[in-house]
Amino acid sequence: MSIENKHLIVFGGGISSEVFLFYFLQKLKKHPLTSPLKITQIFDDITFPSCSLNSTAFVCPRGIKKGLSPLGDHLYEAFNEVDLFIKENSPAGVNIGTITHHPGKDEVSINKFLRRYGQQIKTTENCFYFTPTIFINWIRKQNEELKQFCDFKKKHSEVKIIKHDKLITINDEILLFDNLLICAGAYATIQENRYPEIDALKFGQVVSGSFFSFNQDLGETSFGHTFDEGYCIYRPDLKKLIIGSTSIKIKNKETEDFSLHPLHELYHRIKEEMARVGLNYLSSILIDDGEIQKGYRHKYSKNRPYWGITSPHNNIFTIRGLYKNGYGLSFLAAKELTTTLLKNLNSSVRAITF
Ligand SMILES: Cc1cc2nc3c(=O)[nH]c(=O)nc-3n(C[C@H](O)[C@H](O)[C@H](O)COP(=O)(O)OP(=O)(O)OC[C@H]3O[C@@H](n4cnc5c(N)ncnc54)[C@H](O)[C@@H]3O)c2cc1C
Repeated sequence: MSIENKHLIVFGGGISSEVFLFYFLQKLKKHPLTSPLKITQIFDDITFPSCSLNSTAFVCPRGIKKGLSPLGDHLYEAFNEVDLFIKENSPAGVNIGTITHHPGKDEVSINKFLRRYGQQIKTTENCFYFTPTIFINWIRKQNEELKQFCDFKKKHSEVKIIKHDKLITINDEILLFDNLLICAGAYATIQENRYPEIDALKFGQVVSGSFFSFNQDLGETSFGHTFDEGYCIYRPDLKKLIIGSTSIKIKNKETEDFSLHPLHELYHRIKEEMARVGLNYLSSILIDDGEIQKGYRHKYSKNRPYWGITSPHNNIFTIRGLYKNGYGLSFLAAKELTTTLLKNLNSSVRAITF
């Protein structure tokens, strides 16, 4: 049994933890340390496949304006933050394109569309299309640079339990932490019994999602179309056409699995909608040729995300409730949390000179 002391543990390997570490690295570059921080990132993407690698991962404004709702404000700021991040870092695995939103056929859906976009006919916006495998690889490579600025270790291991100031892995390694950031996505709620003292992780719903991905060469430019119930997007770097995605509330967290039926139904509805607006990409496709990807999203009431401390633990932080917007919101969460966490670390190790 090994015991290690850590100033900070980042638990997770999805978009929220990787983007956090990237922003943290930028802060460390600006504020050099006077003594080294011991930081470990821990996750096991084989046993617990991240939602982030099974995501359609596009980010667009969807007609949001500032000042109408707290979620709208977050999404608005998140879109601007992603824009800035892309301009400053030119990451691999992000394509900039446009997306076209189409109103549905019936009056209810046309009125909903009118409220959101201020018009009754199709509308086009800018959109950032992430290709998860490429982007996550890119950002993980960037985050390796942390080793130059602190004592950064990466552990591929299952987290068995977190109690008091201890994280214990499946191999009974003990990591004692001053600060912990939990970015375990929906799994934190699915496995709430592993974190008996952190009540905050019990809350929220688990919503599964799945989509089809078809091999299709439709050129070198990314594009997307959204409809009432779903969307199609094109990833030129992988030459994949994506049709999705389902949203199914998981009632029994331990046992419920993904059923294919809703995804097949959704596929046929989207195919119909696409044909209605003159998009015939699916006419020569066989549904059986589609690869199915699936993930678990985490959702709080009113779809509002949360990042910050898990009260009453003022040294345990979390990023949660990213639901359908994890690729945008992670950038805003990272921007806001890095400052708070650096202040906490500073008071525990007095290692940072501001
Ligand atoms: C079908 C689908 C489509 C989506 N489309 C979009 C979209 O178009 N745009 C958008 O912005 N968002 C979209 N989302 C949502 C987005 O993908 C998520 O909000 C986001 O990926 C959540 O990231 P995360 O880092 O919080 O969690 P995750 O990516 O799930 O990461 C959790 C991490 O914790 C690790 N972990 C958990 N428990 C343990 C344990 N006990 N031990 C070790 N490791 C553990 C996992 O291995 C993983 O690395 C979609 C989601 C789905 C399912």
